[in-house]
Amino acid sequence: MDACPVTESRCCQFCPQMGVDLDLVNRTLFGVAYSGEPMGEVREVNIARSREAKIRERAQYGGTVSTLIRVALESGLISTAVLAKLVEGVPQGVAVSSSREVLDCCGSSYLVCPVLEAFHRWQPEDNGRVGVVGTPCQTLALAHLRTCSLSAQSNVNRLNLVIGLFCTWALSHRFRKVLEKWAALPEIRKTDIPPPPASVFHVYTADKCISIPLDDVRPFVPPACALCWDMTSEMTDISVGSAEGIEGWNTVIIRSRKGQELVRTAVSEGLLETRELPKESLDHLMESARLKKRRALQNLVRKSGRREDLLHLKLKREIVERILGSD
Ligand SMILES: Cc1cc2nc3c(=O)[nH]c(=O)nc-3n(C[C@H](O)[C@H](O)[C@H](O)COP(=O)(O)OP(=O)(O)OC[C@H]3O[C@@H](n4cnc5c(N)ncnc54)[C@H](O)[C@@H]3O)c2cc1C
Repeated sequence: MDACPVTESRCCQFCPQMGVDLDLVNRTLFGVAYSGEPMGEVREVNIARSREAKIRERAQYGGTVSTLIRVALESGLISTAVLAKLVEGVPQGVAVSSSREVLDCCGSSYLVCPVLEAFHRWQPEDNGRVGVVGTPCQTLALAHLRTCSLSAQSNVNRLNLVIGLFCTWALSHRFRKVLEKWAALPEIRKTDIPPPPASVFHVYTADKCISIPLDDVRPFVPPACALCWDMTSEMTDISVGSAEGIEGWNTVIIRSRKGQELVRTAVSEGLLETRELPKESLDHLMESARLKKRRALQNLVRKSGRREDLLHLKLKREIVERILGSD
């Protein structure tokens, strides 16, 4: 093995799995200490959906993400968006700048997508501003980047919008072999995980829907997902997920003033509609987010052997105690 002589490196600084101080990240983004509340910093929680039929037809649920990105591009908040796009059925990170291209990125791939690679490769034009859509691990990496002393050598200073997706886990690309047993990857129109108690992974082609038991899917979840404590992409301007039991709508958590203004613009331009999130759905979301935190802490403690050592995660002791209790 070669010894690495570098003492200060971007690889070590930027990777949140090498150490992330959630208090520092939260203060940098929101100006307050990290609370450890299940859903992070919250200004508003609503349900929303696109008013545009052509987005709703292709979107995962209500098309809220694609609509907000479209409005951000058209209003000049950003000049480029880094999104995930299926190329021959495999998700790739792409930098796009038109509404047409945003439409081509609609829908969720549950395979891990190298969105941040596309963010780092993006070559900004003069005064270019970028928005990124990503999973909790990706949006945490971006937020963490803002706290790194070497970040000037990255595109992070051009980052003007982060939209996060809710995520329980993603799937390794080894899962492609399982999918290919049922359909050629480019023929897959949509994949989805319906809410419990279904316990299946749906794969839709033009003429059929295949249901794969979740027990056959879970072996393809990368081990890092078991250590992730964030279900709702806490370090973002806006986070979006499904609206359980309310088909065709999204749950939307607005976290920053910028996020709030973007949603207001989308609504006032008639491109997005919002409604109140029913209390029981909010309670359920809170509970799922709390359980993800608890599971992650249990796994981290199991791995390190000590409650005081959460490996890459730096968290205040009182937050750990509150979540783990007498475990
Ligand atoms: C791996 C994964 C796991 C998820 N788990 C949950 C969950 O447990 N609970 C829940 O409520 N929601 C989950 N979601 C979010 C959900 O699938 C929708 O993305 C979200 O509700 C937005 O819906 P929409 O109709 O607004 O999306 P759309 O308007 O269709 O936009 C979807 C956006 O997601 C981006 N995207 C697609 N695939 C990926 C990917 N692999 N990585 C990064 N970005 C991607 C696209 O670029 C696009 O901009 C998950 C998403 C992913 C990618």
